[in-house]
Amino acid sequence: FTRQAEMIYSELKEYHQLYDIYNSYEGVDNIKTVNEQAGIAPVKVDRRIIDLLLFSEEAYETAGGKVNVAFGSVLKIWHDYREAGTEDPGRAALPGTDLLEEASGHTDIDQLIIDEQATTVYLADPKMSLDVGAVAKGYAVEQVARAAEENGFASLLISVGGNVRSIGTRDDGAVWKVGVQNPYEQGGADMTRVGLKDASLVTSGIYERYYTVDGKNYHHIIDPATLYPADYFLSVSILCPDSGLADALSTAVFNLPFEQGLALIESLPDTEAAWVFPDKQVRYSSGFQNHITD
Ligand code: ADP
Ligand code: MG
Repeated sequence: FTRQAEMIYSELKEYHQLYDIYNSYEGVDNIKTVNEQAGIAPVKVDRRIIDLLLFSEEAYETAGGKVNVAFGSVLKIWHDYREAGTEDPGRAALPGTDLLEEASGHTDIDQLIIDEQATTVYLADPKMSLDVGAVAKGYAVEQVARAAEENGFASLLISVGGNVRSIGTRDDGAVWKVGVQNPYEQGGADMTRVGLKDASLVTSGIYERYYTVDGKNYHHIIDPATLYPADYFLSVSILCPDSGLADALSTAVFNLPFEQGLALIESLPDTEAAWVFPDKQVRYSSGFQNHITD
């Protein structure tokens, strides 16, 4: 067990370094490096970065632009205001719309130039930056799970901060049982539990990262249409085989009105979702409840 756990841990750590947008690591050209070289030069990167970004482009297409890794310029503003407002709540403020709108002019994913042959990434717009926060964790967990499976793991549950991916069933043959956190109860009681077999469950919610301005909470998922935190739901949970897709969809569907999100989910094979509304009402896609367990 220790050997296997360490293998998974060290692989996840490599992904973490590659996909980091805040920190640099000795001898590693990561996404932060790509951002620093925006408008300057293509950066030669590890194949795992190329694959993440290609996957992110697909997710952008699938979700009609509601999850955009090229949204870094806008997300950075919210991140900075959130940090400042968390450190000094008395002076917490909202970013001005002028500032947000100026930044949103530099979020065109077509300016993300990926050269698969040369394994380089170039941001053609010098004011653009990548933020892979909506996809990287789930994508990395998916890749590590697949590698583990190839290495003979037959029964495994990986849980990385809200992203759960299972392989096979439990040792006793029963499905893995995973709780969906209740978004309106601090401390995280389960809202419901689902059984997972070779599947993943990913939740995006308002309760993980936010700050408070004039008594109102502002969380970390930003709707590209309004440049403000989306307020349709308290949380959205996605259930599907691929944890990378589940992560991308959890963010995208959070930014979509219910009917549109439902239509998107129903159009995708083996994909289910649960929405929690601000009035605590819960709605499910057509097959979600088949997975609910005690
Ligand atoms: P969690 O942080 O709990 O994994 P998500 O998967 O929803 O939740 O990712 C949220 C992160 O995604 C934010 O912190 C930010 O970095 C990024 N993000 C927020 N809004 C968007 C968006 N519209 N498109 C792409 N990335 C986003
Ligand atoms: Mg996500």
